[in-house]
Amino acid sequence: MSESNQEYIVISGARENNLKNVSLRIPKRKITIFTGVSGSGKSSIVFDTIAAESQRLLNENFSMFVRTFLPRVPQPEADALENLSMAVIVDQKRLGGGSHSTLGTITDISPILRLLFSRVGQPYVGTANMFSFNDPLGMCPDCSGIGRSLGIDMSKAVDMSKSLNEGAIMLPDYKVDSMDWTIIMQADSFDADKKLSDYSQAELDQLLYGKARKVEMPFGGKVIHITVEGVIEKFTNKYIKRDLKTMSERTQRTVAPYISEGPCFSCHGARLSQAALGCRINGHNIAELSAMEVGRLIRVVREIDHAVAAPVIKSLTERLQHLVDIGLDYLTLDRETDTLSGGESQRVKMVKHLSGSLVDVTYIFDEPSVGLHPRDVHRLNELLQKLRDKGNTVIVVEHDSDVIKVADHIVDVGPHAGSRGGTIVYEGSFEGLLESGTLTGNYMKRPLQLKQACRQPSGKLSVKNATLHNLQNVSADIPTGVLTVVTGVAGSGKSTLINDIFLGQHSDAIVIDQSAVGVSTRSNPATYTGIMDDVRKAFAAANKVNQGLFSFNSKGACENCQGLGVVYTDLAFLDSVKLPCEACGGKRFKEEVLAYKLDGKTIADVLEMTVERALEFFQIKEVVRKLQAMSDVGLNYITLGQPLSTLSGGECQRIKLASELHKKGSIYVMDEPTTGLHMSDIGHLLEIMNRLVDAGNTVIVIEHNLDVISQADWIIDMGPDGGSRGGQVVFEGPPSQIINADRSITGKYLS
Ligand code: ADP
Ligand code: ADP
Ligand code: ZN
Ligand code: ZN
Repeated sequence: MSESNQEYIVISGARENNLKNVSLRIPKRKITIFTGVSGSGKSSIVFDTIAAESQRLLNENFSMFVRTFLPRVPQPEADALENLSMAVIVDQKRLGGGSHSTLGTITDISPILRLLFSRVGQPYVGTANMFSFNDPLGMCPDCSGIGRSLGIDMSKAVDMSKSLNEGAIMLPDYKVDSMDWTIIMQADSFDADKKLSDYSQAELDQLLYGKARKVEMPFGGKVIHITVEGVIEKFTNKYIKRDLKTMSERTQRTVAPYISEGPCFSCHGARLSQAALGCRINGHNIAELSAMEVGRLIRVVREIDHAVAAPVIKSLTERLQHLVDIGLDYLTLDRETDTLSGGESQRVKMVKHLSGSLVDVTYIFDEPSVGLHPRDVHRLNELLQKLRDKGNTVIVVEHDSDVIKVADHIVDVGPHAGSRGGTIVYEGSFEGLLESGTLTGNYMKRPLQLKQACRQPSGKLSVKNATLHNLQNVSADIPTGVLTVVTGVAGSGKSTLINDIFLGQHSDAIVIDQSAVGVSTRSNPATYTGIMDDVRKAFAAANKVNQGLFSFNSKGACENCQGLGVVYTDLAFLDSVKLPCEACGGKRFKEEVLAYKLDGKTIADVLEMTVERALEFFQIKEVVRKLQAMSDVGLNYITLGQPLSTLSGGECQRIKLASELHKKGSIYVMDEPTTGLHMSDIGHLLEIMNRLVDAGNTVIVIEHNLDVISQADWIIDMGPDGGSRGGQVVFEGPPSQIINADRSITGKYLS
């Protein structure tokens, strides 16, 4: 290998998904940005080829024993991959973690803050552990460090006007004649026909709050020993004293109706013991500092003047500064990570890496501009550059032209999506891209047009005096029958206003978000949209057989692979190998099923069709309507049988949109629908939104994308800034007026 090749990651003959023998070189220790229409093959190169191979190589370093616990990564389809370094994927997956995971714990800032309190806090209390709500030494004993306490909603738990026989106890597990019901009644020989309101105080206490005790009870001809507990006592111990978020979703759903939640009565939400809360630095205790916005916290920390703690203060301010730099100064350290948005989660992960000391790593980002207002994109760029300057290779999938501009190298994938993509149409500098004549290059040069002829609203939906999170007594009228875009810098309050307040009042609205669709590996676009049902009927009618035959989930399934089309072969400790099923050749159906045809095609042939091809093939009215809807949202290139689990967040959002398109008179709410969309795809999206509005619907969109904002009928701009410096409506009106609105940052970027 030549010396100069060491400076590049070299990919030869990549063929994952739609890639057509792609070969390219990615410069190391530089920023390379992949762009191109959605479905063109960016992820197939970056995630399915580069990241997958790096992960696989990394796994090979571990012992056989450890490897059995690692995710199994098959070797990507490519002739050769050279000079890879360790890859770290910084994606938009939300940070889960339950109520014990906060911004402070996940960024490792909280431990430093605790250390600071243990060194200089007054009065002096003890070790850093004393300030941790995750540590038995520090946690509030009444809420176990959760900060909230749950109580039973008594009106939902017991009905005092009824007797036990009439079902006075409404908690789950106590249905009349159930095991628990029988035990509680027999243990104290309660009169099952007496209304609870007629019980003596002692009887009621025993029934509801009796402490656990062993009793003997006849059961099935024997005498058995059983533990009895008052019904409220038992429910409290079983559910309320534990962290509900760690229980199964089913349990949470069952229990939720009976409980109500409030701040902990003892620590008032601070999560810490009284000793910890009594300790202060410059008048603030640790809970107050954790509840302070990072932008203000960093100033307070800088004012602490204490020689002993100087190194601790330095490392604390360094990390806080990273949060400020990436535009998260409006968050607080005590914010629970599972309430952060996808974009915020990605930026938090980024901060973790900036504080780390890894070098020569390949960082891979998936549309890091998501959730960022144009004003803040430069901060993201600075962080990408910092990572590069530390000696790392930075690879970014991105559509935002302001991010693309800072790339050292650009790879434009296309020319179109799916089988009409999968090649590299341009490689080089930003200036070169503008002159390349590719879709991306051409769109970059287009000037922004502000919509002039805005639609007249048919009415309005009002939000009044909203104060949740940072909202400062917000009242706003959302016009109906038009396209409204809600915008503003990150943290200004857009999601709070729309997702929490507005949707709370209009639960009939249709929410089209980016969460995954389909729960099983067997769902695909055909099953999700209902096309499969009509197709099965058509096959059954044409061949005069039962339609169940044409389902790979039931009768028609290949018996060897159970309809999956692939067989997983476990090679003991090695990576499991996914092979096409030998019996059906990956077609998923039994041979006899594949003998039946519709206009010359088998059911397996149909599932291999792209939406575009299927539109040419089918004449069935319902099928054509559903296919057309998918085509309209820009999903022409996906095949009917592609597992939904392989779709990106943006594609999931569009497939949901496709299956909702035929409704009329509804309210649609979308959260950053341009995620994953190339500039040329955004035109399609706008057409769909306009079509929805023209059909009499109300469309409300949270967006930062200037192309979408400029085409709104009505803009609601939140701000002026994030967090406590936001939470107001700074502008309401049509695009032509926002450019003159003094307080609107968005207006400045549109003009
Ligand atoms: P991009 O990242 O540019 O949006 P992708 O690389 O995700 O595009 O997709 C390229 C093509 O490969 C698309 O047609 C997509 O539907 C298809 N594809 C992606 N992942 C899979 C998969 N796991 N199985 C089958 N097809 C896939
Ligand atoms: P945007 O959607 O404009 O980015 P958000 O509505 O998400 O803004 O946030 C507005 C403010 O409310 C921010 O200060 C944010 O930190 C805060 N906030 C949002 N969600 C929560 C939550 N679940 N708990 C506490 N604070 C929140
Ligand atoms: Zn408490
Ligand atoms: Zn099979």
